Amino acid sequence: MEMLVRRGFLWQSFEIYGGMAGFIDYAPLGNNLRRKIENIWREFFVINERSVEIDTPLIGIEEVFIASGHATSFVDIAIECEKCGRVYRADHYIKEKLNLEVEASMNAIKEVLQTYDLKCECGGKFREPFYMNLMFSTKIGAGKGKSAYLRPETAQGIFVAFKRLATYFREKLPFGVAQIGRAFRNEISPRQGVIRLREFNQAELEFFVHPREKKHPNFHEVANDELTLVDKFEKTHRISLAKAVEKGIIANEVLAYFIGKTRRFLLKIGIKDEKLRFRQHKDDERAHYASDCWDAEALTSFGWIEIVGIADRGNYDLSRHSKFSGEDLSVFVPYPKPVVIKKKKPVPKMNVLGPVFKERAKKIAEALERAEVSSDFIELEIDGERIRLSSEFFEVKEVEEEVTGERVIPHVIEPSFGLDRISYAVLEHCYDKDIVEGEERRVLRLKRWVAPIEVAVLPLLSREPFTTKALEIFSMLKRNGFYADYDDSGSIGRRYRRYDEIGTPFCITVDHQTFEDGTVTIRDRDTTGQVRVLISDLPRILRELFSTERSIEDFGEKFR
Ligand code: AMP
Repeated sequence: MEMLVRRGFLWQSFEIYGGMAGFIDYAPLGNNLRRKIENIWREFFVINERSVEIDTPLIGIEEVFIASGHATSFVDIAIECEKCGRVYRADHYIKEKLNLEVEASMNAIKEVLQTYDLKCECGGKFREPFYMNLMFSTKIGAGKGKSAYLRPETAQGIFVAFKRLATYFREKLPFGVAQIGRAFRNEISPRQGVIRLREFNQAELEFFVHPREKKHPNFHEVANDELTLVDKFEKTHRISLAKAVEKGIIANEVLAYFIGKTRRFLLKIGIKDEKLRFRQHKDDERAHYASDCWDAEALTSFGWIEIVGIADRGNYDLSRHSKFSGEDLSVFVPYPKPVVIKKKKPVPKMNVLGPVFKERAKKIAEALERAEVSSDFIELEIDGERIRLSSEFFEVKEVEEEVTGERVIPHVIEPSFGLDRISYAVLEHCYDKDIVEGEERRVLRLKRWVAPIEVAVLPLLSREPFTTKALEIFSMLKRNGFYADYDDSGSIGRRYRRYDEIGTPFCITVDHQTFEDGTVTIRDRDTTGQVRVLISDLPRILRELFSTERSIEDFGEKFR
């Protein structure tokens, strides 16, 4: 953290006013890193899926969160000290003080508080625990205004727009809709620095599937990937995804596919496989909307932390929004070929209806023809009046009907990524120390494609003509689209160390020979090896280097 703050990755927000827990500024390098991670996410989960990306408001009207259940269920249990007034999240405080995993239910918390007579850090007693909703509330407009909340997840914006999205996809399942953006949770006294934020960045994909066909066309691509799974009984497996589905450890193929794809994405951006596991939620841990859920967890100095949640949300969200908005949010799924079904159909007996219902008989007969037969009477609603017709008024005939498909409410599989935690975990996993020329070196071994500064141009000596030449190369590289930097202060060795520390993969050095033959050296951060190349070849060579992980020496001969 000291390095991240000093070198400009992350800063405490509102620092000059004393700061505020749960908020961070993305400083220049951190901002670049997160954006790059975001773009690779887009490649994985939007461009290379049957997916689109949308962008919906950060503020949601109250109706949305009543329907989604967040207004009532998105709560944590808090405890407040009678003496000093400090408030803690109960389950976290219990874990910290008693090293006890407690179920986040009111009864369980109360029991632990009593049994262990838990006190505040100041020694004070706690009041009765209470529920706290984690959404930030606000008002839209003047006066009394309209109640609204800052969104606690980006997902709801997608569900609410589902009708339009389904039409956009011509109602053809499966399809995915992604959203990347801010989410807000008024976390109770967050004490884990960058891990638990009150305003954070999510990248979410809602992948809509047929409820009975939880399959993914590209499952074969990841089926043989082996990974570490911790199931809901806390049993650890090192197993392929295909096997995990076969054995029923992972509920279905779509979930397994996205677990596999998530892992590939995380490895691509620099998460270490040996510090990555997928943990299944226990039955009492799952969110109110999920039927099965797996967290990608990364091992960091904060312990194992959840960086991605992959949930099967069933049709919970769509049915709730359908119910609360009154809109039909189902899609029509045609059968491969039409099926003929036998159906019982009521045929009105006019000679009986006529004398009883007189002028209303015709209307009743028409309604009867559209009605379903389920028992020996039929109930109809005619002009607001309920009419019950016994079997003397109609005959039942069996007819054949061709059915071309059915309406279904899709299920949704949701991989939900916390970009802040992911960026932080990448930084920790890539942070390394080694010995170079007898001295300890701190080096951030970031993957080339996420490095905030891709290439640094350094004059060997900070005087003419080295500086002008280096500045020329610096401009030329920027024109070619590289995130480049220029530095002429301090010895060349110190400058290399500075760029090693922030993960810059390559340094270009202008030296005496540059003025003899138009060449510069490229230095590789990881090996510290150097190769001499023509200035005019730099853009091409760098482009090649950024598409591979091969070291520069490995590549050396190809340059000439
Ligand atoms: P959830 O909807 O709770 O499964 O969250 C999805 C992802 O968002 C998690 O895997 C985390 O990476 C991230 N996340 C959730 N809460 C926070 C928070 N308070 N601060 C930072 N990231 C968070």
